[in-house]
Formats: sequence, C-alpha cells, structure tokens
Amino acid sequence: MNELIWINGDVSPLADARVGVEDRGYQFADGVYEVIRLYDGRPFTLREHLKRLERSAAGIQMDLRTDRDALAAEILRFIPRAGVRDGMIYLQATRGCAPRNHLFPNNCRPTLLFYARVLPPVAAPGQGEGAKLRTVPDERWKRCWVKSIALLPNVLAKNDAVAAGADEAVFLEDGIVTECSASNLFIVRGGKVITHPVGPKVLPGITRLMLLQLAKQAGIEMIERPVAFEDAKSADEAFITSTTREISWVSTWDGRTIGKGRCGPVTLRLHQALRDRVVRETKSLAGAA
Ligand code: PMP
Repeated sequence: MNELIWINGDVSPLADARVGVEDRGYQFADGVYEVIRLYDGRPFTLREHLKRLERSAAGIQMDLRTDRDALAAEILRFIPRAGVRDGMIYLQATRGCAPRNHLFPNNCRPTLLFYARVLPPVAAPGQGEGAKLRTVPDERWKRCWVKSIALLPNVLAKNDAVAAGADEAVFLEDGIVTECSASNLFIVRGGKVITHPVGPKVLPGITRLMLLQLAKQAGIEMIERPVAFEDAKSADEAFITSTTREISWVSTWDGRTIGKGRCGPVTLRLHQALRDRVVRETKSLAGAA
C-alpha cells in the first residue's frame, strides 16, 4: 500500500517525504510525539492524546502554532485518505529547521507531521502470551511526563530486555519500579491495583488514564503510589498498558513467574472494561459522523 504522510498541511507519499538536515528533531531530539490507536478507522481518545501533546509541547517551551480542534480535524480528514482501519497514527512535532544552535531559534515554524500505520490486532482480554519483564536501571531524565522524542534510554533498555529473553524493560530507581520502556506498569495485591503516580518519573499514559476511570466505575480500588521492587515481584498479578498493546498481563519478571502464571481476574476485568469502552467510543464517533 502506498502510505501517505501529512507534513505541515501537505499530504504526500511517505516514501517521498523529507525533512531538513537541520531540523532540530534530527539534531537535538528537540520535539515531542503521540501515538493514537485507530479502531475500524476511528481514533480512540484523540482529544486526550492532543491534550497531552499540548502539555508536552509546553513542557519544552514549544509553540505548536495550531490548536487542538484544527489538528483533530486534519487527523480525521487524513484517516480515510490513508486507508488504515486498524492501526495507529504516529504524530510528531519538532521545533523546526534552523541553523544549528542550542538556543531556541526565533520565529521557527515547527515541523508537524503524522502518518497512519496498520497494526496487528491485540490479543483478546486474558488471551495471548503474557509479557516477560526485565528490570533495568532507570537512566532517563527527570521530565518523563514529557512525551519527548529523545528515546535513547528507552531504546537501550528495551534492547537489553529483549537480549535477555524478555519482552519489555521495567525501570528501577532507588528500589522503586516506575514504568516500562514503552508502557505503564501496574501490580495487583489483595484485589487492589497499584501504579506509580504521574510526575517526573512516568509518562501519564492515556491507557493508564482510561484505566483509572474504568477501575472506579467497576469498583476496583486503584492506588497511585510508588511501588517497591521487592513488593512487585511477589504481586498477585501485574500488567502493563499502552496505546498499541492495550493491556498485557505479565507472566514473568526477571525469570520468576508472577501470580499463577496466567492472566489474573483483576487484569481480565480491566481489559474487558477497556475493550467495552473502545467499542462504545468508536461506535459513538461513527454515529456522529
Ligand atoms: N510510558 C512510556 C515510557 C511510553 O512510551 C508509553 C507509550 N507511549 C506509555 C507509558 C503508555 O502511554 P499510552 O497509554 O499513552 O500509550
């Protein structure tokens, strides 16, 4: 399929798209991004993602020069043109192209782009192989709430985890496990769900946000507090969340089985609730179209 890309208002084939060598994203990783899930051609939680994009941009003092509604309209117009039904939108905003200098350039137009890509379907709640976690030291900066394109520590962590036979890396700092290289982390103990609070140490995941709401509706207690590595290893259940994976139950952590080695009941209920919400919201969008 001929993939398309939207760059600063123009749509072209992705393979032909170019950005300048002096784009600050390329030279300084001076930019932020979002990944938005598409279900049957409709974006899920688009508003929440665009709100986070604005917060991330403000967090690096970058003016996106567009507002949320205009950007949402562009994305909604683009999806049918791209022809992707089940997949994602990758959206990136960098500070733009300017002669190389650490100082912010004056009057530089950001490079704003997005494209759609097909993703394989995720396993139904409780199904699929569980995720295997591997603990690695957290070597990231202290503004993890910014969804920065500077992902090298995450890239290295993930590769270390996979090289060790796992699927995802868990960051550990001062005895506390915060989140994973590309997902938020939750443990379940005595029926209660515990996850690290948002702030400098974790990305405020949109899936995490959904689960906070869904847990409340389902009467499942969700506590936001730091999780000690020692406690986490003996949790009844553990799961990780992200836009692309939804919820993955954790089967092993540093080679040790978590819980009974299958998806636990709390994880299953939350994933089912998330699925129900996906169906409700993507259907209601269709109704409004
Ligand atoms: N933490 C990190 C470090 C991530 O990269 C991601 C995925 N972008 C998440 C958490 C999960 O965020 P979301 O649910 O918004 O995809």
